[in-house]
Amino acid sequence: MNFPLPDDPARADVLAARPTLWLNPNLREGAINDPALAARPEQVAQAVANWQRLAPLLSACFPELAATQGQIRSDLVEATELREALGYDGADYGRIFIKTDSNLPVAGSVKARGGVYEVFMHAEALARREGLLNDGGDIRTLAGPEARALFARHAITVGSTGNLGLSVGVAARALGFRAAVHMSHDAKPWKVERLLRLGVEVHMHEADFTTAVDQARASAAADPLVYFVDDEHSKLLFFGYTAAGSELAGQLAEAGVDVDAAHPLFVHLPCGIGGAPGGVTLGVKSCFGDAAHAFFAEPVQSPCALVHLMSGSRELVSVYDVGLTNHTEADGMAVPRMSPFVAEVMRPLVSGIFTVADDDLFRWLHRAWTTQRIMLEPSATAAFAGPGQVVASPRGREYQTRHGLGARMKDATHVIWTTGGSFVPKDQFELFLARGAQLEAA
Ligand SMILES: *Cc1c(COP(=O)(O)O)cnc(C)c1O
Repeated sequence: MNFPLPDDPARADVLAARPTLWLNPNLREGAINDPALAARPEQVAQAVANWQRLAPLLSACFPELAATQGQIRSDLVEATELREALGYDGADYGRIFIKTDSNLPVAGSVKARGGVYEVFMHAEALARREGLLNDGGDIRTLAGPEARALFARHAITVGSTGNLGLSVGVAARALGFRAAVHMSHDAKPWKVERLLRLGVEVHMHEADFTTAVDQARASAAADPLVYFVDDEHSKLLFFGYTAAGSELAGQLAEAGVDVDAAHPLFVHLPCGIGGAPGGVTLGVKSCFGDAAHAFFAEPVQSPCALVHLMSGSRELVSVYDVGLTNHTEADGMAVPRMSPFVAEVMRPLVSGIFTVADDDLFRWLHRAWTTQRIMLEPSATAAFAGPGQVVASPRGREYQTRHGLGARMKDATHVIWTTGGSFVPKDQFELFLARGAQLEAA
């Protein structure tokens, strides 16, 4: 072990790769309104406005968005049957919903929020710079022949464990850009094949996610016509995810859910590099402030946000630095180092992080399908552990006590974010299901 983690009740479990819950000692009340926070609610509002401005173009590029007038959004589904299958039937669990980003159009994962946003924002900026789009001009010009010819002279590149590559590749090709995706060794072959069919150049690396990102960055640095979507540092990506907050707020209101000090909201979010869960957290807290409590989920061997935030270090601490392997079937979360920008924003905002074992991901995948026909990939189920950890574990109870929530839990709402899966090919999904069924039977 190269980095000594500080004394913490969760430390021994983290180092032994046992599922656990870590509570963030740096969580600060009111932090969302702190002008010194590295990302601001005004920027979230700007991202929402940007998405609205882009919607007619998105609708023109993706026929599947016609029904939502170009909005990329997912349903909020109450876990009516699934909650019992997960063991969450007691009154202390309040209401439980699934936010099904696993069904997001365009990319089939939460990455549709980040990757599509950055590519389309880049396209708009490029078209303005080249004089193809003026203030007040029709954004749909960007789907026209002149813009396509411009974009065809430019390329977009990204490093990914799979889903970000898929999202950026799909978005780039829809506008006519050339696209190159650098994949880490964990990338699933079907994601690669899908990209190849779209005319995306795919580079496979026998290395982890961080290395794939480095390769993509280096290729872009050498060529001014190549734009690099930087999962490790990009603010555009991050803000793309934040618009999910107001989307969720509207859906909760429609479902008759109150969120305030007497009715806490818990959001449970699978975490890789931190952009998706961090962006969603900023968006949700911009809507609900301290009444919203955000918990991240990470694989026991890849808890990069947990080890870094627990370390208290300003230098990035990776999972390798504490002796973990980064080996997991949850390819969407097989990330050894978190984004330093997201770390800074989340330090006072995230309530805690829990870890999950790979076998449980397959069990939950099986239960989500058999109860409510929700189609997931292993990464996307990680947050299912959240309500159990927060409501019933010793440290979850400690959290309730610290925040005066004990008597409020029956009036609480849990939102479990399922982050990907609807694009998984049927034969691949059958294998996941079979593995889950086998584990359930054992
Ligand atoms: C990318 C991804 C995540 C995590 O998002 P980060 O921005 O890497 O933290 C979770 N689940 C799935 C399915 C993903 O593709």
